[in-house]
Amino acid sequence: MALHDDDLYRYARQLILRDMTDAHQEQLQSSQVLLVGAGGLGAPALAYMVAAGIGQITIVDGDTVDLTNLNRQICFATDDIGAPKASTAAAWARRLNPSVSITAIDAWLDNGNADAMINKGMIVADATDQAAARRLINQTCHNNGAAMVFAGASRFEGQIASFRSGVDKDAPCFECLFPDISGVSDLPRCSEVGILGPITGILGAMMAMEVMRQCLYPDMVFGHDLSGKMLMYDGLDHYMQTIAVNKRPDCVVCHG
Ligand SMILES: [Zn+2]
Repeated sequence: MALHDDDLYRYARQLILRDMTDAHQEQLQSSQVLLVGAGGLGAPALAYMVAAGIGQITIVDGDTVDLTNLNRQICFATDDIGAPKASTAAAWARRLNPSVSITAIDAWLDNGNADAMINKGMIVADATDQAAARRLINQTCHNNGAAMVFAGASRFEGQIASFRSGVDKDAPCFECLFPDISGVSDLPRCSEVGILGPITGILGAMMAMEVMRQCLYPDMVFGHDLSGKMLMYDGLDHYMQTIAVNKRPDCVVCHG
């Protein structure tokens, strides 16, 4: 897919970056991303993915816009309250960049539809806030040959990591990091513990960058990816730490 003059102009500021070539832009434009969750993380992630020209983006979210979403979910406005999130976010994103193919699915990802939505070679951006959905995304990415970019945010902090067990047998998966043995069914949810809007903005922007890295893998145009690592951000101290994530020999998802 050759770049058109409009593309060269629209993406001019990223195309002049060191190591970024027209071929990398073409690779972004031929990439497929499934964004699960059009909320606090999903909205900024969507903005930067669409702006960067990632070619095909499917947004899946079964929720509707609520007034309490608007401190952080930047693709919605006050008059969107009550509207379905996925199709509203898609309409907003199409205005930002009409050349991106955007599909909206106004439903929750579940056991009945995940297998059909997650395809080989795709990158799945996990911007949900429920452990069960994350485990389902991880299992389906592993089974179907997709890469997963996970992010989470609550209060003043967030985490982000990539899991490539679906495309690299030596890579760890989400279950390796968070094995389902703790009895804790869910991470803290924003509705219970609160969230400062810019924290989701920071993590959502990081998520878009990590998705772009996965689109261009193995070329490290934007530095090294977060496979085998998790980055943790503490907004109170502006402190970032990256920890190693190892493959668990007894992982119920990616072992063997
Ligand atoms: Zn695993």
